[in-house]
Amino acid sequence: MTAHRPDPPGPPADGDAFGSDVVDRVRAAGGMWALPGGELRMPRVFGFCRGVTRALSMLQEAVAADREDPGHLYLLGEIIHNPWVNAYVQQCGVRILTGESLANPETVLTARDVAVIPAFGVPLQIQRHLEMIGCRIVDTSCGDVRRLWAWATRAVGDGYGIVIFGRDAHDETIVTKSRLESAGGRYVVVGDLDQTRRLCELIATDAGSGAFGRAFTPPATNARSAAPFARIAQVSQTTMLYDQTIEVRRLLHEALVARYGAAEADERLIFEPTVCRATQDRQASAIDLCRSGVDLVVVVGGYGSSNTRHLFELAAQHTPAWFIEDADSIRSAEEILALDAAANKPEIARDWLPVKRPVRIGVLAGASSPEVVVGQVLQRLAELLG
Ligand code: SF4
Repeated sequence: MTAHRPDPPGPPADGDAFGSDVVDRVRAAGGMWALPGGELRMPRVFGFCRGVTRALSMLQEAVAADREDPGHLYLLGEIIHNPWVNAYVQQCGVRILTGESLANPETVLTARDVAVIPAFGVPLQIQRHLEMIGCRIVDTSCGDVRRLWAWATRAVGDGYGIVIFGRDAHDETIVTKSRLESAGGRYVVVGDLDQTRRLCELIATDAGSGAFGRAFTPPATNARSAAPFARIAQVSQTTMLYDQTIEVRRLLHEALVARYGAAEADERLIFEPTVCRATQDRQASAIDLCRSGVDLVVVVGGYGSSNTRHLFELAAQHTPAWFIEDADSIRSAEEILALDAAANKPEIARDWLPVKRPVRIGVLAGASSPEVVVGQVLQRLAELLG
């Protein structure tokens, strides 16, 4: 089943394109919307983070400047992972480079063009291509992501192997790997606690190329054995679950204790809490909301958004949870088009809304979820509880 893509509203590049009166009203009412059939509750912190707001406002400025001499604005991949925002960006006349043209921007761009770098950055080799082309670069990469690169690159210089807790194929992690590669570093990416435990066994036994190569292969690693991870610098993709990041550190420390003894393990592991503050705040607020006695939670955002997906995982630990991309996903009180986490694709689910009244629905929104879409979801839910 293909996810529906909502039409973005015009006019393009309007400063308020992402806002919502409905969300403003709910926020002003303390995050609560009382209705005849129940209530809608929002967390203390939700929606766009500072990094996303900055990236979109820089893009809008570039769009406005492009109107004077149109047709020269290119975006290097998705600005953030949200289908509504990407549709909006295209409606603004921005061309989005993907695949081969993204890997080789010199085949498309000239010195007259403007290249916008998304919030999670671009691999170093692409950035170098842009510099050679001589086009104007609008770099919207978030400060938290840049701090992660800087810390990990310094750690490479200090002789550490880098363990990245993140999604191997996520844009941010791809960029981080390119920076480490260029600094001559060795890295391995672990996506969950099971993979971390597998890595820890290899570290604890100082596994050679055979065992290591069977467990981790490129592009998840550029190491050939566990040897580079005799000294470990641990970072996380900025949008990972904070509690799991701490658990990854504990497991790595345990592995180093097993291999080198307690006295040495402390100095063989350095850790930087690179899960950004915005992610941590949204996760903490989501947990508070789920514990506030809601009957179910609706999570709004792009399925490709790492931080939204983690909010969904957190919510699902506490209560029935539905991860949707937009208001049209709520087909009726009986049917909803929501992510099937096991199949990793949207599916129609039935009987998602309890028939008992009143019903208390929590609504969560990731750091890349525009309020305009969240407002439409609130409105749709309110109709069902009206
Ligand atoms: S989620 Fe964090 S790292 Fe990503 S753009 Fe927002 S503030 Fe920056």
